[in-house]
Order: sequence, then structure tokens, then C-alpha cells
Amino acid sequence: MTAPPKPPIPVKPSYWHDFWDAVITILKGMAVTIKNFGRVVFLRQATTITKKWGSRPIALRYRGTIGLTIDRRTGKENCIGCLACERICPDHCIHIETIDDKPGHKGKYPVVFIIDNNLCSLCGLCVEACPTPSLIHTDVWQIGGYSHRDLVFDKQRLLEIGEWQQEKWIRMGLGTVDQVTGKKSMQMTDEEWQAEEEKKRAAAAARAQRAAAARQQTARPAAERHGKVTAKQEEGKQEETTTEG
Ligand code: SF4
Ligand code: SF4
Repeated sequence: MTAPPKPPIPVKPSYWHDFWDAVITILKGMAVTIKNFGRVVFLRQATTITKKWGSRPIALRYRGTIGLTIDRRTGKENCIGCLACERICPDHCIHIETIDDKPGHKGKYPVVFIIDNNLCSLCGLCVEACPTPSLIHTDVWQIGGYSHRDLVFDKQRLLEIGEWQQEKWIRMGLGTVDQVTGKKSMQMTDEEWQAEEEKKRAAAAARAQRAAAARQQTARPAAERHGKVTAKQEEGKQEETTTEG
């Protein structure tokens, strides 16, 4: 028969053991506090940075508040009023009103462009759906306000945000919004616009000429047919008069 296992030896409560344990724990905690105090105050390596010390560099792939852009080459708004963004937005926070033609602007011109940032989830679907480089995610994230109305951005505000971002990309050497997004602006300079209008006018005039010529050609055989019938009728009448005589 094997002997039964011995019961564990009870640990005697020790006052000094507990005392030193508490002292070591406090020192460990204080070391962490002092280390972080030195990092924040002397080395400026704060985990949370106050405005006084500036802000952390924002990652290139950061996708913040939506902005509208202007084409740098032509100085015109990139939006062509296609409404693709408004239709695809899952939060229904985009509202656009367009006019059909504004001289010098390619496509429809958005007279009203509103994004309600109270609703926007920054999903980026509008940016992806946009066929031009008009809509972009920006690095803007401090858009707090005192009321819901403060977060409803009109076209002016959206253009300011977009321009700020485009300036930043150019300063960083990334290029204009066309180069960053890889999408091509559809806008033209005033000279290019006038040249295209001239081309359209010339094409319309050529079309009108062709149509007039075609009308003439179809009208001639009918007239000729009509002329023959009349001649035959005249001959018939003459024959009738001679027989009567
Ligand atoms: S990011 Fe998404 S939610 Fe915000 S406006 Fe664009 S589509 Fe709508
Ligand atoms: S922002 Fe883009 S998707 Fe929206 S209406 Fe303008 S061109 Fe179309």
C-alpha cells in the first residue's frame, strides 16, 4: 500500500513580506508614471497630443471629411453634375441641384452641392463612383460644431476643404488631384471651349447643308413625275380637241 499524499504546508502570513511587496508594487507603478512624464514633458513624445504641440502626421491613406476639387489647369470645378455620388450614398447625405449648361463648363453645373456630415459615415462610395477627380477624402478631421447645422457643408465649404487638401498634396510633391486620384478632369480652358463650340457650329452647319441637299434630291423626281403627268394630260386634251373638230 502506498502512503497518502502529504497536505501542502500552509504559507505563514508575514507582515514584512506584505510590506515589501506593497513597496515594490508602488515603485513599479511610479517608474511607469515618471517614464511617461519624462517622455511627454521633456521628449515631447506624448501619446495624446494637445493643440499646443501641433498634431501628429496624418497617414497618407487616411480617409477624412469629403471635399470638392477645382481643376488646377483650367481653374474650373471638376464636378459635371452626373449625380452618381448622390445616388450611391447609402446615408442619403448628398444633395445636388444642377443647371444644364453653363458656358465654359463641361457637363452640368452644380449650383447647389451639400454634404450633411452629421450623416456621412466616410464610407467612400461617393469618391469611388465619381467619374471625375471632383470628390476626394481629405485629411480634415476637426469638424466639430455646436449644432447639427454646423456640420452641413455647402459647396463653398466643400471646395475650401478640397483646395486645402490639393495644396497639401502639391506641397508634399504628390501632384494635383488628377495625379493623386488617377482620374482625368473633363474641364477645358476658355480657349479650348471656344474652339470646341466653333467645331460644333461647323458640324451643325454641315449637317444642315446635307439635309437641304437631300431634301432637294427627293423633291426633284416628284416634280419631274408631276411635270410628265401634266404633259401627258396636255397631249390628251389636244387629241380630244382635234377629234371633236
Ligand atoms: S462617404 Fe459615404 S456616407 Fe459620406 S457622403 Fe460619401 S457615400 Fe455618403
Ligand atoms: S461630384 Fe462626381 S459623382 Fe458627384 S455629381 Fe459631381 S461629377 Fe458626379
